[in-house]
Amino acid sequence: MQRRHFIQSTALAAVAAAMPWRPLGAVELLDSEVSATLGAVRGSGEKFSIAAGELRDFAKALRGRLFLPQSQGYETARRVQNPAISKHPAMVVQATGVVDIQAAVNFAREHRLLVAVKCGGHSFSGQSTCDGGMMIDLSAMPGVRVDPTAKRAWATGGTLLGLIDREAMAHNLVTPLGTVSHTGVGGLVTGGGVGRLSRRFGMSIDNLLSVDVVTADGKYLHASATENPDMYWAVRGGGGNFGIVTNFEFQLHPMQRQVIGGRIAFGPEHREDALKLFAEYGQTAAAELDLTLSYSPRGATFVVMHSGDPKDTDKLLAPIRRIGKATAEQFTPMDYVDVQRSGDLKDTSNDPRMTMGQYMKARFIAGISPDLIKAVSDGTAKRGLSVVFAGGCGAGGKVKNTDTAFPHRYAAYNMLCGTGWKLSEDSAAPMKNVRDFWTDMEPHLGGGGFYFNDAREDAIMDNSNYRENYARLVEVKTKYDPLNLFRLNANIVPKARA
Ligand SMILES: Cc1cc2nc3c(=O)[nH]c(=O)nc-3n(C[C@H](O)[C@H](O)[C@H](O)COP(=O)(O)OP(=O)(O)OC[C@H]3O[C@@H](n4cnc5c(N)ncnc54)[C@H](O)[C@@H]3O)c2cc1C
Repeated sequence: MQRRHFIQSTALAAVAAAMPWRPLGAVELLDSEVSATLGAVRGSGEKFSIAAGELRDFAKALRGRLFLPQSQGYETARRVQNPAISKHPAMVVQATGVVDIQAAVNFAREHRLLVAVKCGGHSFSGQSTCDGGMMIDLSAMPGVRVDPTAKRAWATGGTLLGLIDREAMAHNLVTPLGTVSHTGVGGLVTGGGVGRLSRRFGMSIDNLLSVDVVTADGKYLHASATENPDMYWAVRGGGGNFGIVTNFEFQLHPMQRQVIGGRIAFGPEHREDALKLFAEYGQTAAAELDLTLSYSPRGATFVVMHSGDPKDTDKLLAPIRRIGKATAEQFTPMDYVDVQRSGDLKDTSNDPRMTMGQYMKARFIAGISPDLIKAVSDGTAKRGLSVVFAGGCGAGGKVKNTDTAFPHRYAAYNMLCGTGWKLSEDSAAPMKNVRDFWTDMEPHLGGGGFYFNDAREDAIMDNSNYRENYARLVEVKTKYDPLNLFRLNANIVPKARA
């Protein structure tokens, strides 16, 4: 049957005919979309075929769309945020709710399909897409509900951070989230979540009160401190290993809408003094002061947001201003939601951050020792590199390593060093430059781990980074995902079945 839409009720068909959009639900695949079989890849890597009839039945069972490589819309649906990551799933299920997600998970499990889950699509290592498997795309199901009285927000699993900030701030409420508004709640929060309010309110996972999850067996469960506490523990730092989170419940905190945002920059003669000050002040300053330091042979720049009483801003900036004469300084009252959008990519197709090759090394550090200051100063000068010292767990540092699956509570800072190159140029030299720099830094970094959410392909599989929580994570993974259906993440391999 060569009809675009298959809708059982004639009355509905008449309504649908008048609609300018393709309706959701009971959508039959076109003959042009599906041939006799579809080549696909299992989680094990084995190639196999799925019969057209099965795909047709599956498409009809969904309310959202099933995109196959020949479907109109597939090219858009398969994309993740970084255009340099270009993979071709055998199918993209654009879920519209929990029932679609359950249907997708059941179909994938029955076929042992390779599964990728996409929320914001920001994964540095491209974990939200795959070649030949099923992408479960949550981007068509964003949504936030705020209860201002209870100071709670609920965000569906496909929500981007900016929507949570916007909806909560309408009530002068916030929860700590990341610094780029088009990052997805799904990856950021299950991996930990650090941002401009972490010094005040901790990590995102420290404000996560409960989750709803579709597990690998297609079941739907609620997890909180009192219900399925093993899942609640694991999902706070263990990434997407345990299922697809369809709903996140957050604690909100009162905060005024207007904050002070800006930066203050120093030339090369003051850069070491700036780093020395930051080493201490980055930890001792009022929790309302968020500080990031960008450090290079050309100087040092503090990027600042003050979310406390604006009358205190000058007092809090005084130690920074005492470093010396700044080369540039700009501070201004800003809407918090705008600050949270200030680092957004305007157009990912031509933003240099997206169209250039990128390489980064990063490490959580408990402090910035005099040794590290000297090493960074010498190393950046020798190699012409920049280093960024961003905040760590902040108030989340009071949480024990074993209280959640996130085991890096010692992290006062996240130290990052990156490089970029035009895709037409050779990547070997700039990457080697960063690697060599990092080798020189290693003895001074204090043996900390790294943030899985920042990690590239070469680091994402390093299970030792789960530290003392790894054994417990294996138990939870084995219980909820014994087949390792959810393997495209910082993967915890379940125990083999007896
Ligand atoms: C520009 C940029 C800025 C960033 N800024 C910050 C920051 O300020 N703070 C910070 O902490 N991190 C930051 N990050 C890192 C970010 O936390 C990770 O890249 C994170 O994985 C992005 O989540 P996502 O949903 O957008 O990614 P996706 O690529 O969609 O998913 C990433 C991983 O999460 C899994 N996943 C996605 N949704 C769900 C779900 N609903 N349930 C279960 N698993 C799911 C996926 O399977 C995948 O393994 C930033 C990244 C980028 C690219």
